[in-house]
Amino acid sequence: MIVIKFGGTSVGDAEAIDRAASIVRDRMDRQPMVVVSALAGATNALIAIAQQASEGQLISAIRGVEALRDRHLETAAALLKPGVVLDEVQAELSVTFDELAHLSEALSTLGHATPRARDAIASKGEMLSSVLVVAAFRERGVPAEHVDATSVMITSDQFERAEPRPDRIAEASQRIVRPLIAQGRVPVVGGYVGATDHGIVTTLGRGGSDYSASLFGAALGAEAIEIWTDVDGMLTADPRVVTGARLIERIRFDEASELASFGAKVLHPSTIAPAVRLGIPVYIFNSRRPEGRGTLITFDAPRRPVSAFAGKGGVTIIKVKSPRMLLQHGFLSTIFEVFGRHRTSVDVVATSEISVSVTIDDATHLDSLVVDLSQLGDVSVERNRGIVAIVGAGMGESSAAMSRALGAVRDIRVHMLSLSASGINLTLIVDADQVNPAMSRLHDEFFPNGIS
Ligand code: ASP
Ligand code: MG
Repeated sequence: MIVIKFGGTSVGDAEAIDRAASIVRDRMDRQPMVVVSALAGATNALIAIAQQASEGQLISAIRGVEALRDRHLETAAALLKPGVVLDEVQAELSVTFDELAHLSEALSTLGHATPRARDAIASKGEMLSSVLVVAAFRERGVPAEHVDATSVMITSDQFERAEPRPDRIAEASQRIVRPLIAQGRVPVVGGYVGATDHGIVTTLGRGGSDYSASLFGAALGAEAIEIWTDVDGMLTADPRVVTGARLIERIRFDEASELASFGAKVLHPSTIAPAVRLGIPVYIFNSRRPEGRGTLITFDAPRRPVSAFAGKGGVTIIKVKSPRMLLQHGFLSTIFEVFGRHRTSVDVVATSEISVSVTIDDATHLDSLVVDLSQLGDVSVERNRGIVAIVGAGMGESSAAMSRALGAVRDIRVHMLSLSASGINLTLIVDADQVNPAMSRLHDEFFPNGIS
């Protein structure tokens, strides 16, 4: 069996749900289970509703509920022929909206919202989309069966970021989902949503549907997981920066994780770890272009010296120089302790015998950081820097690749340089306005004119 997950834009409106149905129909022989996100934007709207209600803005909250109701009922009407099924689906959706209105009233009376109450509201997006998708799929010849996420995705009671309980999820999936698949049905479940042992609704955290798909895939020993989204897959660079950026057909999990930390937003690899760890291949596909080849993420794709580039501006370098550092124990820990105290995370570090240079993304606490660091040595701050990351699992073993990379940016001033211990990421700190030119030159060097 396989798990097919549709993100919010892939079930965002009637046309998208129609495309999703054909994607599943084409894969019936692979015994699919379907995991769906909420309609694009619905979770944000629900979270805003909870917030407004708890701040006493009941009218705005109810307006939000009604706007969502209209959107879902209209989508149902666009997907289903007039008749009993449409009436029943609209009635079922309406019950959820009535509940949302009551919850909003309750929160506005209380004047606050607990994480548990926020989950009760935020989880409705997937409950609604999954009901809609089941009806639409059936009308399009896919024998879909709704599976209530709260009966299978068993979690801790850490609301808004619940910890899944893999053993319980496996047991429930084998008991509830497996027999449906065996009967030739297509189980459809909302992602992101779970429940405690006592049936109290939880969520896995924003973007949690990928996590759900991965957990179900692991629980059922899926042959593959397909994540359907609105981009072709992972690319060699941001196509807005590098015109020749191209699809990466196979990428290693560690490379994908490294790119995600630089804001490659396709998916957060940690969410698919449960499946990838078991050797289940995870694909990313574009539901607007189902014929595309997509990206396959595995633990053991070939180790290329260079797979992709990522970059970002808005980086600040802080340098601390002190002769006292020479032959001293614990100097670094003293410095990092200052960053810890000011809740500032450090991205890149380079040291010499008497100086330490670090980069930070978030300069909110810069002034107080500098005051405290000045106790330890001479401090200088360089703003308007940027990071260029050259990501490839085989980078550390290839001095040829490293020298080509540095050669490609020979006329760009590099302020700092660091190779991660695992050799997967060669990071250059350059002037912020040189990030894009550096990315283009590096890309031309490693992926010239469309040949990879
Ligand atoms: N609907 C949820 C969110 O927007 C979960 C997801 O889409 O993955 O965060
Ligand atoms: Mg998503």
